[in-house]
Amino acid sequence: MLKELIDKYYRERQKDREQTHFYITDAGKCPRAVFFKFKKAFKEEMEPRVLRLFDYGDQIHQFILKPLFSMGTVRSSEISIPPQQIISGRADAVVSFGNELYVLDIKSMNSMVFQNLERPKEEHLYQVQLYLHFFEIKRGLLLYVNKDTLDLKEFIFEYDALLAKKLLLDFYNLKTKIDSNIIPSRLDSWPEGWQCKYCQFKEICKIAESGEMNWDEFKNKIKSEPAADAINDAKV
Ligand code: SF4
Repeated sequence: MLKELIDKYYRERQKDREQTHFYITDAGKCPRAVFFKFKKAFKEEMEPRVLRLFDYGDQIHQFILKPLFSMGTVRSSEISIPPQQIISGRADAVVSFGNELYVLDIKSMNSMVFQNLERPKEEHLYQVQLYLHFFEIKRGLLLYVNKDTLDLKEFIFEYDALLAKKLLLDFYNLKTKIDSNIIPSRLDSWPEGWQCKYCQFKEICKIAESGEMNWDEFKNKIKSEPAADAINDAKV
């Protein structure tokens, strides 16, 4: 009874909203998957259980920040980057040690991933580099939380102007493809790479060509694919 109600709440929350700009969390993600997201292409639904885990992760972040707030280490939290056209995002916090400011982002993960973590994950590093760029802060801090044991690991790093500019350039290039309806190529690591394994668009990605392809041609191709009935029944 309640389980069904709670599941329904999470199912409805994942209904597609119009995406008109990138999110910082898109940095380092497969450009084709981001393209499909913008076009509201057919995707596999996430299980309510997985969505609950995301929510749980947000609660953990608040919990981890609590002592930092009470010690006056947090200068501000949930800070949005200055408004501009291409990208939006919100950093968990800006913290200070001595006279130094750091952008802090908190990530939670299960024990197995946490135990094997020896350096920050690339996509997390990218996100914080963009926060550093927009906030004009020189140092970033990634704090990882083991969801199962609440153990912590932290990584400190410097702003890398070249990397931040490259990430922004990648966004501008992808925006050009989205506006001109060109589906980006598949990742080189397709289909074994971790992004592909967890990708909600893997079914339609499989049908598209491996290289770039026109979005309208692709939609016509899907309409004539007998194997793609399920996709045709949904909107592409
Ligand atoms: S399956 Fe892989 S290559 Fe295809 S859209 Fe998803 S992440 Fe990108």
